[in-house]
Amino acid sequence: VAVLVDPVQRLANFVRLWQEGYTGFVRAMEILDVAPDIEDRPGAAELDHVVGAIAFRDVSFRYEESGPHVLSKLSLDIAPGEFVALVGPSGVGKSTLCALIPRFYEVSGGAILIDGKDVRDVTMASLRRNVGVVQQDIYLFSGTVTDNLRYGRPDASVEEIVAAAKAANAHDFIAALPQGYDTDIGQRGVKLSGGQKQRLTIARAFLKNPAVLIFDEATSALDNESERAVQQALLELTRGRTTIVIAHRLSTVRNADRILVLTEDGIGEEGTHEALMAADGLYAGLHKVQASI
Ligand code: ADP
Ligand code: MG
Repeated sequence: VAVLVDPVQRLANFVRLWQEGYTGFVRAMEILDVAPDIEDRPGAAELDHVVGAIAFRDVSFRYEESGPHVLSKLSLDIAPGEFVALVGPSGVGKSTLCALIPRFYEVSGGAILIDGKDVRDVTMASLRRNVGVVQQDIYLFSGTVTDNLRYGRPDASVEEIVAAAKAANAHDFIAALPQGYDTDIGQRGVKLSGGQKQRLTIARAFLKNPAVLIFDEATSALDNESERAVQQALLELTRGRTTIVIAHRLSTVRNADRILVLTEDGIGEEGTHEALMAADGLYAGLHKVQASI
């Protein structure tokens, strides 16, 4: 199995480059977003005009040749524009399942298709352009708000940055900072609340504007008001794109078109929050044992 760039190694590189300052930051972006981990196959097509249908066809995956399967013959169809919440116990493979879509790892068996095209048959650059991954627990670096938002799209104009911040419910608090969009945040700068940081990561995703968005929701608790602001922003972000959220919040799963409950044996249950609560199965059980999913 082709194990590509270890995410932990990536993060270590990212942190090291971050410490080197802005030039380092630009290189870190290359590592995270642009560097081809896997070679394009000869004649690979451009993934273009993506509608956002995702299909898993009997997908199996294990990290090591002799290791245990994390996913076994998993099949799944996600419709264009659908908002799917993925829940399940820790370690069951939620992050792994999501990492296979932008090809951070190669499937061990089966295939993953976007708009009917096998992800192995398209160029890595076009795949990564269309599939955005938001890891909410890895977020801001020292620098201005604008620098941090531009990470979503380096060539974004000021107008585009403000529009993204507005869509993410972040413009008002940014405007109220001492130097507005030029305020230094992160280590040396002003301290932002958890909900504000999360809205900045959402604004970044608006700037990137991918047809398919994978969102690994932060586990940190928020006060009610921040929770509402973040949920509104997330809901806005799901519009017009296919979204898979690894969900840790009840408010997120309630908003989802479909909840998938991942178990060690694959997808154990699916449906809306109401339907799954009424079924009183795995999902309802998750609620009983955990305050948050
Ligand atoms: P979840 O997101 O549901 O908590 P993960 O997808 O992170 O689960 O992990 C699924 C399984 O794969 C776990 O047993 C985990 O230990 C293992 N795993 C995750 N990442 C790696 C990796 N880079 N190398 C080897 N095993 C891994
Ligand atoms: Mg995970």
